[in-house]
Amino acid sequence: MHIPQSNCLREHVNNTDLVRDRWMLGGRWVEAHGGEVIAVENPATGAVIGYTPRCGSMEAEAAIEAALVALPLWRSETAERRAVILGRWQGLIRDSADDLARIITLEQGKPLAEAHEEVLSAASYFDWFAEEARRPKLKHTASPGLTFVRQRAIGVIAAITPWNFPSAMIARKAAPALAAGCTMVLKASEYTPFSAFALGALAERAGLPPGVLNILTGDADDIGQVFTGNPAVAKLSFTGSIRTGQLLLQQCAASLKPSVMELGGNAPFIVFADAHFDAAVDALIARKFRNGGQTCVSANRVFVHSSIYDLFAFQVIAKANSLSVGNGLDPEVKIGPTISRSAADRLQELVADAVDHGAKILAGGSRRAACFFDPTVLGNVKPSMRIATEEVFGPIALLLPFETESEVVSLANDTCSGLAGYAFTSSLQRAFRLSDDLDFGMIGINAHSLSSPAAPFGGMKASGLGREGGRCGLEEFLSTKTIAIE
Ligand code: ADP
Repeated sequence: MHIPQSNCLREHVNNTDLVRDRWMLGGRWVEAHGGEVIAVENPATGAVIGYTPRCGSMEAEAAIEAALVALPLWRSETAERRAVILGRWQGLIRDSADDLARIITLEQGKPLAEAHEEVLSAASYFDWFAEEARRPKLKHTASPGLTFVRQRAIGVIAAITPWNFPSAMIARKAAPALAAGCTMVLKASEYTPFSAFALGALAERAGLPPGVLNILTGDADDIGQVFTGNPAVAKLSFTGSIRTGQLLLQQCAASLKPSVMELGGNAPFIVFADAHFDAAVDALIARKFRNGGQTCVSANRVFVHSSIYDLFAFQVIAKANSLSVGNGLDPEVKIGPTISRSAADRLQELVADAVDHGAKILAGGSRRAACFFDPTVLGNVKPSMRIATEEVFGPIALLLPFETESEVVSLANDTCSGLAGYAFTSSLQRAFRLSDDLDFGMIGINAHSLSSPAAPFGGMKASGLGREGGRCGLEEFLSTKTIAIE
């Protein structure tokens, strides 16, 4: 398919220069080989909003070459100089927040207010990492002779990002990698390419040198093979499903290419009888229904102490029923569409399977037009049901009663995922016990917000390797050398 000229995003933004439908290679915007493109749909309407380049192995190789050429200069720049450019970039992102948020909503579907928050969150990663990289943590030891440790940018980073946070997932990778002095090739999701290209356009305007960031979209398998197989790539940074993470890790194994993997979750949300009841209800609504439940840290399995189960269910049902579903551009809407018809098909299947096995629909349960799914609450859920063992990734809350702390800890830990977990209790002793006993990389105690530039973000078990965010998020992109001088 050749590139048609129409991209209706231009009608929705003030600054049409942000809308790019070519890919970013070494400071130029180019077509994929043969002008091949992929149609991008607005999941709320099913309308094609534009076309993104269908790149393959050839383009992936060219992107890596451009990043390799740009590496020596960018790596040897002072951290201050890099921080100035990243600072300008974050300023431009904030100034363009309205346009960037509209692009997110049009290609991904989330409510505009959430899209706006996401853009500001993305900007905050550039701020934080630019500052952090200015303060190298030099370590030395006196023996033998003078022994000290040097760290420097690891090299070219290949990044692969998903569609659920089209701006923030890119910022979480690009900000630390570029601040550390690495250069990057990025494959954005084909569902949400335009947010990535808009960030690229702003990076260019901020003065990021050509080749430091290269952004492409296209055939994921082919591009992934090149990213994992090309020896010029020093590290792979991936966010996505466990299944794709496993495949990419296998590909990396051939050359022992290191990787950071942010994979799926199956978060428990535990409400004890001594919890602040209203705060727990509100936190669940926020944590379950944000982005229509399409986040890796969404509350998946909600364990409620049997003594408060009925009342808790009653409150959650009432709040879930009050959330309006529709096009994210409508300010009243709290739940946008799922990313695709197949995602909504899967939710329908999961609910039908749960009902077949004895679950009861307490609220919602229906799919509306193509990609819309009502906020749903299921009772009588058993831990062995498919819906409780898989990551739901949709607006469906599963309620499961429990009796004792030890019982709920073992139920909560009984999953191959270990990304995020939440517990609500007013007992300080229990809070400390749970922070030891729950096998998750991030634990919210009376808290549902886990992600910030300063906090390490990542999982245990099959939820991934390494961390994004915080000092350790920067260290992922630095290599460490021990130097001994006699
Ligand atoms: P989801 O099911 O949530 O879309 P995926 O893991 O399939 O999660 O997708 C996350 C990112 O990984 C997307 O950018 C997607 O295009 C990319 N991806 C999917 N399959 C592969 C693959 N075989 N190699 C490289 N990237 C892939």
